[in-house]
Amino acid sequence: QGLQQSILGLIRDVPDYPKPGVLFKDITPLLDDSAAFQAVVTAMAEAAGDVTKVVGLEARGFLLAAPVALALGVGVVPVRKSGKLPSETYAETYDLEYGTATIEIHRDALRPGDRVLIVDDVLATGGTAAAAASLVRKSGAEAAGLSVLMELTFLDGRDRLTDLPIHTLVAV
Ligand code: 5GP
Repeated sequence: QGLQQSILGLIRDVPDYPKPGVLFKDITPLLDDSAAFQAVVTAMAEAAGDVTKVVGLEARGFLLAAPVALALGVGVVPVRKSGKLPSETYAETYDLEYGTATIEIHRDALRPGDRVLIVDDVLATGGTAAAAASLVRKSGAEAAGLSVLMELTFLDGRDRLTDLPIHTLVAV
């Protein structure tokens, strides 16, 4: 309850970003408050269950995934936009409102038997998280859950992620 209120107070609404009509949830004030950031990381780690890896989604997801992985004592693996990872990758392409996006993971980052927590800042339409879960499965690992700071419930992202347990700290 207290944590939810402080998170809500530290996320800034930015109208018309990245384009007209979108109300962007800016998490940078929260990242800049070390007590709130610490509480968020602790809450995400406590909800994680028994996982062997944390996957962070570019770019804001990295900022949360790395400290959550350290809190859990497991490794952190980046999922990046196409062309950014240096070694061999698996790729997944998904639809955006206009066009498509491709994300990648290193082929050797996960292995069968890994139970993977996917971490991102915001769950919107769920397209990114669904593609990330596909990458985890292509790697032979288990997508054990998705942890996000904030869920935009009006976009129904959950409906695209029916096979993935979702933990959300605040829902708006
Ligand atoms: P989705 O694929 O669920 O539609 O979009 C999720 C991705 O877009 C996430 O990686 C998230 O960082 C970003 N995103 C979409 N909307 C917002 C927003 O309002 N605020 C922030 N911080 N990220 C957003």
